[in-house]
Amino acid sequence: MQFHLNGYEPGDPEVADPAEKVAAPAGLADLPEEVDVLIVGCGPAGLTLAAQLAAFPDIKTCIVEQKSGRLLRGQADGIACRTVEMFNAFGFADRVLKESYWVNEVAFWRPDEVKRDHITRSGRIVDTEEGLSEFPHVILNQARVHDFFLDRMRKAPALIEPVYSHRLLDIVTDPDGRDDSAARPVTVRFERLDPEHEGRIATVRARYVVGCDGARSAVRRSIGRTLEGEAANHAWGVMDVLPVTDFPDIRLKAVIQSAGHGSIVLIPREGGYLVRIYVEMDKLAENERVRDRDITVEDLIAATRRVLAPYAFEVKEVAWWSIYEIGQRLCDKFDDVPEQAAGERLPRVFIAGDACHTHSPKAGQGMNVSMQDAFNLGWKLAAVLRQRGDPQLLHTYSAERQSIARELIDFDREWSTMLMSRAATELDPAEVQSYFVRHGRYTAGTATRYAPSLLTAEPTHQPLAEGFLIGTRFHSAPVIRLADAKPMHLGHAVEADGRWRLFAFADGADPAAPESRLRALCEFLASADDSPVRRHTPAGEDVDAVLDVRAILQQGHRDLALERMPPFLLPRKGRFGLCDYEKIFCPDLGAGKDIFTMRGIDRSRGCLVVVRPDQYIAHVLPLDGHADLAAFFGRFMLPVGRS
Ligand code: FAD
Repeated sequence: MQFHLNGYEPGDPEVADPAEKVAAPAGLADLPEEVDVLIVGCGPAGLTLAAQLAAFPDIKTCIVEQKSGRLLRGQADGIACRTVEMFNAFGFADRVLKESYWVNEVAFWRPDEVKRDHITRSGRIVDTEEGLSEFPHVILNQARVHDFFLDRMRKAPALIEPVYSHRLLDIVTDPDGRDDSAARPVTVRFERLDPEHEGRIATVRARYVVGCDGARSAVRRSIGRTLEGEAANHAWGVMDVLPVTDFPDIRLKAVIQSAGHGSIVLIPREGGYLVRIYVEMDKLAENERVRDRDITVEDLIAATRRVLAPYAFEVKEVAWWSIYEIGQRLCDKFDDVPEQAAGERLPRVFIAGDACHTHSPKAGQGMNVSMQDAFNLGWKLAAVLRQRGDPQLLHTYSAERQSIARELIDFDREWSTMLMSRAATELDPAEVQSYFVRHGRYTAGTATRYAPSLLTAEPTHQPLAEGFLIGTRFHSAPVIRLADAKPMHLGHAVEADGRWRLFAFADGADPAAPESRLRALCEFLASADDSPVRRHTPAGEDVDAVLDVRAILQQGHRDLALERMPPFLLPRKGRFGLCDYEKIFCPDLGAGKDIFTMRGIDRSRGCLVVVRPDQYIAHVLPLDGHADLAAFFGRFMLPVGRS
């Protein structure tokens, strides 16, 4: 798609009328008095959480924002492969893929050996390791990501619209109501900012509050937490521009180091003409704020020209620019329970995204990690509020996400130091390039691996599925759906609906034969008293409402008869008892893509891969590990079912 040819226009590029492009419902005017979950902040973290909770009509969620409306331009733009996988679960990856710039290759430029004041191309590599994800790394305005989430919230079972023009003032938690699951112990005060009600105070009582209110988070302050780490003493200029240039790699992501004028990172943007440029500005003195420097967009353009010499660079329009002054900082915990009290108290207030960790923009982590925080927390809150999950689940949010944020901050610090001018001139450009390649999994967002915990099993049976590492995200692979021969990605069966997925990879036996381990598993899940499906699925709900079981067989899809499959894999659902035909898959043998080979599944024994609602692998078990499977879910899920 090409757009922005005659100037930058915010909003939906498929809508011709400039006013309609940015039109959106105004949001709600008044705050409710009581809610289950109150989300503060309409950035990527808050919107991801709201979109996740919007899947549950029985949960009352409210999202509040101090600004008067939605974001229209600027801020982050890098969307990691892992994030596109998450967008797919939310149902809008295809729209993102259509509109965005795809980062397929990266060019590296360095000072010319002979003419030191000129740059020369030193290398070009693929951006993302082959096979890392079925989705590319893409670039799209953060504002459009917000739009897609808002759209999802609007269309979801629990329709959610943000309440704008309300600024959070303070939060008080009643200690007596903390452990009472029916209580709303958190009282939050907001000040209205809309001209008609300016200064009026509104109060909300909530079961849980999630501060997604950015780097200067008032929620963080209210729970007594601080961001620790390197102060924001390095400024980066960032601008989105429509340029005319003879620099040949203007449509490739490029890391460009000059001999004496610092470095820039050039990122082509959606629409075919727009370009983002990050320019390293001076290091700030201690306690100096970037606003004291009076840096202008002309300074950014001049700095870019100096780095790009001998190439010309003329800016026709500046769509957005900012001086981005941020350090790598981290909170020690992402909820309101002190470490030493974790055994006695349950969390009621959480922080997510920039509120608990900040990154430099260079590694493109901020927006991506913020959304992943919220995706991690959303299903846990839903499970607890719907009385399906043990409230202890809520402790795992901070435990899991804080250590991931720490790792990413270490990576970000190393990478941005490498790109800072003084270091860059001392560094071998080949080293910069090789570092980029080695750490591609961080930038792709696929390096996250949760440690063994309540939710993540020990890797005792990992050899049964070497390619599905416990603690990492479920790495999708192509399959063919048995009933209708549709080629598709197995991971795309996972939707952001709070359900667990049990992927049963069959042993070599005929699934209709008595010795089939897959058949025995299905019989256990369907009828045993300790079946987690029976134990954790509320009466009256579809059999897959909590645990969605899918089977992947080794045979080609034409070599199997649907009617001989275990009945548990052809469940009757809904008010008419219609058959769900989408539970059984086969390898895509015609395309030479056998998921059993691609993911290292033990063909003689098969295995069961247990996947969390946020797409992470919680367990790998033998198909006959029935008792272990029941025990695993018994650790954190409540027995609400029929047995
Ligand atoms: P945010 O996106 O910061 O959202 C927080 C929201 O909370 C905001 O909408 C804010 O208005 C609202 N809020 C704050 N306080 C209150 C309150 N008291 N009451 C009610 N609402 C409140 N990242 C990059 O990778 N590249 C960039 O070039 C880049 N540029 C940026 C430029 C700016 C000006 C900013 C602010 C951020 C930039 N970022 C950039 C960072 C990136 O946007 C963030 O990492 C990402 O948005 C984090 O998402 P979040 O949801 O945690 O917080």
